[in-house]
Parts: sequence; C-alpha cells; structure tokens
Amino acid sequence: MVAEASDAGRLFLITGPSGVGKGTLVSALLQRHPQIWLSVSATTRAPRSGEQDGQHYFFLDRGAFEVKVAEGGLLEWAEFAGNCYGTPREPVEQQLTAGRPVLLEIELEGARQVRSSFPSGFQIFIKPPSFEELERRIRGRGTDSEDAISRRLERARVELEAESEFDAALVNDDLDRALAELEQLMALA
Ligand code: ADP
Ligand code: 5GP
Repeated sequence: MVAEASDAGRLFLITGPSGVGKGTLVSALLQRHPQIWLSVSATTRAPRSGEQDGQHYFFLDRGAFEVKVAEGGLLEWAEFAGNCYGTPREPVEQQLTAGRPVLLEIELEGARQVRSSFPSGFQIFIKPPSFEELERRIRGRGTDSEDAISRRLERARVELEAESEFDAALVNDDLDRALAELEQLMALA
C-alpha cells in the first residue's frame, strides 16, 4: 500500500529498533520536504550531548511526565529501556487540522496505540540490514551506556518481530537508497 498522493493533513509514523537510523533518515527527509511537521516528544531520558530541550525532545522529570499522562496531554506514551516517552497531543491535532503532513518517530508500543486512535495513519517500519549491523550502529553512535545498549538490543529483537503489523517496511542499508524508498512510500518522490 502506498500513501495517498495528497499528504496534506495525513499522519505518518516511523518505527524501528534503536540505532537503525530513524533519526538520520527523518532529518534527511525533513531537509528535503520542509512541509512535513515532525512531532517533538516528551521524555524522561537525560539529554544526550547536543540535544536541545524543545527541539529534540521536551525533557521532563518523572513527576512532570506523570502529570502530562494524567491530564490526557499525550496522544500515546510508552516506557522504553527504562525511560518514558510520549507524543504531546495538542500540537499534533493542530497541525493535522491545519492540513500539514505530520510525522511521528516513535517505538512499537506507541505505534500500536496510534494505530487505534488514527487508523488512517500510514505506519512504516525501518529494518537494519542485519542484527550485527544494528549493534555496530548503536555502538558507533557512542551515546549510550553499556547497560542502555543491552536493553536496546534486547528490545530490538521484539520490535523486529512486529514488522508485519506495519503498512510498509524498508531496510536502511544505503542511506540515500533508503531515503528514496521512504519518499516513494510517502508519495513524495
Ligand atoms: P535511531 O534514531 O534509529 O536510534 P540514528 O539515526 O541515531 O538511529 O542512527 C544510529 C547510527 O547509525 C548513527 O551513528 C548514524 O550515523 C548511523 N547510520 C544511520 N543510517 C545509516 C546507514 N544507512 N548506514 C550506516 N550508518 C547509518
Ligand atoms: P532515544 O532515546 O534513542 O531518543 O529513543 C528511544 C526510542 O523511543 C526510539 O525507538 C524512539 O523512536 C522512541 N520514541 C521517541 N519519542 C517517542 C514517543 O513520543 N513515544 C514513543 N512511544 N516512543 C518514542
């Protein structure tokens, strides 16, 4: 299934194991298609070096995150590798109403929640060329502790089994090739 030709006001979602290259692909996609609005998630994870509050994430402590959940302020949320992550609801609804294509880059449990609240959304799963390459990329990124790497790889095995739930899947082998395939799936090419 390919996304409709008009992507105005459509909800796109990208999932895939940590380290597969989602962030890299999404930032290349946004450079080429600035009309797409990328949701900024809330998280209890500590900022990595270079990450800005409000730009990469809204960094919250557990208490503040729980308040957001209790207020119904998150469209979806999930715990991942020991931290909470969630999508602020209001900006997504505003952008969709304004007719902009909206992109979420989130993990599997969140994708499942969005599937029930936005069944017309288009969900894409990003795969690594191999599990060994996934591990190389997570380690090569150099941002995670050994403990975080283990948790992420453990979770990756579960996520990789969920590929068939998605509307489409693509392998992030060569970045330019994968980007072109993503553009095609989103009917942007
Ligand atoms: P994610 O957002 O899925 O956790 P990142 O975008 O942070 O993953 O990418 C993880 C690492 O893999 C980074 O160091 C990135 O530069 C590298 N990477 C991303 N895409 C590719 C690719 N197609 N080939 C080789 N390395 C890649
Ligand atoms: P990271 O800590 O590497 O930035 O992200 C870890 C995982 O959390 C990634 O798989 C990422 O897609 C996911 N994630 C980021 N934001 C959200 C969100 O708002 N909700 C959910 N469910 N997952 C998210």
